[in-house]
Amino acid sequence: MSELDYGRLQGIYIDGQWRDATSGATFEVTDPATGRVIATVSDAGTDDVKAAIDSASAALPAWAKLTAYQRSEILYKAHALMMERQDELAQLMSTEQGKPLRAASIEVKYAADFLLWFAEEGKRVYGQTIPSARADQRFIVMHGPVGVVGAITPWNYPISMITRKVAPALAAGCTVVLKPAEQTPICAIEVFKILEEAGVPAGVVNLVPCLDPVPIGDEFLTNKAVRKLTFTGSTAVGKHIARGAADQMKRVSLELGGHAPFIVFGDADPKHAATGAAMVKVLNTGQACICPNRIYVHSSIKDKFLEILTARLEKMKVGHGLSEGTNIGPLIDKDAHDRMERQVADAVEKGATVATGGKRVEGDEYAEGYFFAPTVLTDVTPEMTIYREETFGPIAPIIVFDDEDEVIEMANDTDYGLASYIYTRDIGRALRVAEALRFGMVGINDINPTSAAAPFGGVKESGLGREGAQEGILEYLDTKLVGISIS
Ligand code: NAD
Repeated sequence: MSELDYGRLQGIYIDGQWRDATSGATFEVTDPATGRVIATVSDAGTDDVKAAIDSASAALPAWAKLTAYQRSEILYKAHALMMERQDELAQLMSTEQGKPLRAASIEVKYAADFLLWFAEEGKRVYGQTIPSARADQRFIVMHGPVGVVGAITPWNYPISMITRKVAPALAAGCTVVLKPAEQTPICAIEVFKILEEAGVPAGVVNLVPCLDPVPIGDEFLTNKAVRKLTFTGSTAVGKHIARGAADQMKRVSLELGGHAPFIVFGDADPKHAATGAAMVKVLNTGQACICPNRIYVHSSIKDKFLEILTARLEKMKVGHGLSEGTNIGPLIDKDAHDRMERQVADAVEKGATVATGGKRVEGDEYAEGYFFAPTVLTDVTPEMTIYREETFGPIAPIIVFDDEDEVIEMANDTDYGLASYIYTRDIGRALRVAEALRFGMVGINDINPTSAAAPFGGVKESGLGREGAQEGILEYLDTKLVGISIS
């Protein structure tokens, strides 16, 4: 069990200085597995975020003027520092956010990958020359930084969601003000210490942790100096941001919720599919935007698939992220836990069967945290809340199907469009179905279609824009056309 205590943290970072809130306010951060307070952090308000935006505006011209090579050097250093601190950052993440230590360590590596990828990608912001219809004219297309970026990140991936935004923004020559999730400000503070030590100049990155996100979000939306908003979180808040950003036509990137279908065809290897489903379902205790929310299994292999899935989930150890052997940590808070109970009760009332789990994990060591047993629900139908609402927890809803066209239609019958999965050994079917699915990402016999080098993002109400990959840096660049008369 964790005894880590981070004490009283000056968590606001503006113009290269660590500070308290202008108001003097602070807020508490707790370990979600035990409810224990692990730190007290400065609580930024409107005055602080205004100062942070001023600082980012003042730092912008000099940062934008550096060569891509100079900015890249700093990102390389940040990558090296993050990897040096992989173990301590993982311990912190387990304590503050709840995920098992091994998963936290993998996330730190994934977070560092974005620093490395964009250190390299910044050097490849190529322009274009375009032939003109006029003999005396030349066209040049060039890219420049969008300007000051307001970034808002969630608690579920508290380090990688920061570097996935900050690394491309910095590589592109933008400056940043970041508001981390109220549940995980310490991870953000540690990332910003790394950026500071790596040599990011004062004002180029600014951090405003706070308990109430609304005033900070409103300032991002209404302050004319902020030219771009990048947000990862729920679809409801994403829509609020998109609407607000429209008033000043700010650029937006939105990484929002998902409701991933996981389709297992009759020709799939049931063991491979069920093992994959179990692993990705409990990824981060089910609190990942790419977790499957509807598992469609062909009737011909449903019994074998269910047997293996249920056995796998029952074998998983639920506990504190730092306890030896833990596979599944706590849910982040009471609301999340209540949502699990509500979705299970609604499904059972409408005819679903609980094959395993379905309730809180009992026992003294679980009393103060929000531990929900890994759950399999069978006989799930479209009338149930769980069929439409993002679960964000370790519940696997099973739907049996017979026909390829039918399952494609069911899989696409959602307002979301982030991740999706197909299990089949028929290559024709795999490509046919991948093309038909209206989702931003498709895993074929694979549960992890993610990498710093690959474009991550959704369609429909799962968001706008892509993070990572070549596309990731374009989100932070404006395009400028220069037309030249040579006569
Ligand atoms: P959330 O929308 O409640 O919070 C996300 C962030 O937005 C937090 O920093 C929060 O403080 C802030 N926020 C909340 N209300 C705000 C407001 N009015 N103005 C400005 N900021 C505000 O989401 P959550 O519950 O913390 O995160 C889980 C959600 O994030 C899920 O829907 C999940 O699918 C999604 N998510 C998506 C991705 C992706 O890449 N697509 C990745 C991780 C999480």
